[in-house]
Amino acid sequence: MSNGSFFSASGRRRGGTLALVLATLAPLGLGGWLLWDNLGQQDDNGGGAPASSASSLPTVSSTSSPLPAQPPQPSSPSPKNKSDDKPLTGKVVVLDPGHNPNNRDHTAEIARHVDIGTDEKECDTTGTATDAGYSEASFTLDVARRARTLLEARGATVKFTQDGDRAFGPCVDERARIGNSARADAVVSVHADGAPAGDRGFHVILPKSVRGGDADTSKIAAPSRRLGERVRGEFMDATGSEPADYIGDGSGLNVRGDLGGLNLSTVPKVFIECGNMRDSKDAAELTDPKWRERAALGIAQGITDFLNG
Ligand SMILES: [Zn+2]
Repeated sequence: MSNGSFFSASGRRRGGTLALVLATLAPLGLGGWLLWDNLGQQDDNGGGAPASSASSLPTVSSTSSPLPAQPPQPSSPSPKNKSDDKPLTGKVVVLDPGHNPNNRDHTAEIARHVDIGTDEKECDTTGTATDAGYSEASFTLDVARRARTLLEARGATVKFTQDGDRAFGPCVDERARIGNSARADAVVSVHADGAPAGDRGFHVILPKSVRGGDADTSKIAAPSRRLGERVRGEFMDATGSEPADYIGDGSGLNVRGDLGGLNLSTVPKVFIECGNMRDSKDAAELTDPKWRERAALGIAQGITDFLNG
């Protein structure tokens, strides 16, 4: 690059007058050191001066008091663009922790039916649990909170449909509308499945293109698939989990038109079933906080990939 050739030329010129410079600077003490050191800094950029120049520096400073190892440098713009650190600045992500730990105490409320456009469904469900009693609702909240931390560190605005701060629910229609009202750039609903023991793996649920009542997913089906494919790939990388062996023909993807949370969404949205809580091997992972951190990383990275195009 042009800078390199400039500093190379400068270095050669300076090397030719080295003795004169040293003789001139020696009486100047600290000031002379700083001037010389600033000249020397050019070598970090251009690499023009021979190593012997650096070894001569102590003779210049021999009469000076102890010096800081790194004299203050002139401020200069960071070579790293801020957007590299905060790639999701300006983006809105809604995370939807499936179910609610308190749903079990409000079975009547969550059993009432709500309109999902194409049909009617229960407001919400209790979700599943491991044999040892670790609930899906506890799992989804934990993973979503971990993902929120990661996404916020990348600059995203993150909203939850519930954060353990409600008596029950919200209902599936409200979960969808929270994402819509936030004008979310991406929504991920976090779940774990309750399939028969022996069934293993994770899968991402994509919205089928449906129309009916308030439901119209024709515009979000394609971007939701892109979101889901990114989440699938990053989740596999982060956790080492395999796509489910009991649904989706091993693709890790499943398209559904019967979920209110997807049917009523007007913004790109997917569900992820992170594993099967009813299988002991999957349950061993789902109950491990270190594994949940990796799951959250996979989800956050999938969202990041999608939003960065
Ligand atoms: Zn669930």
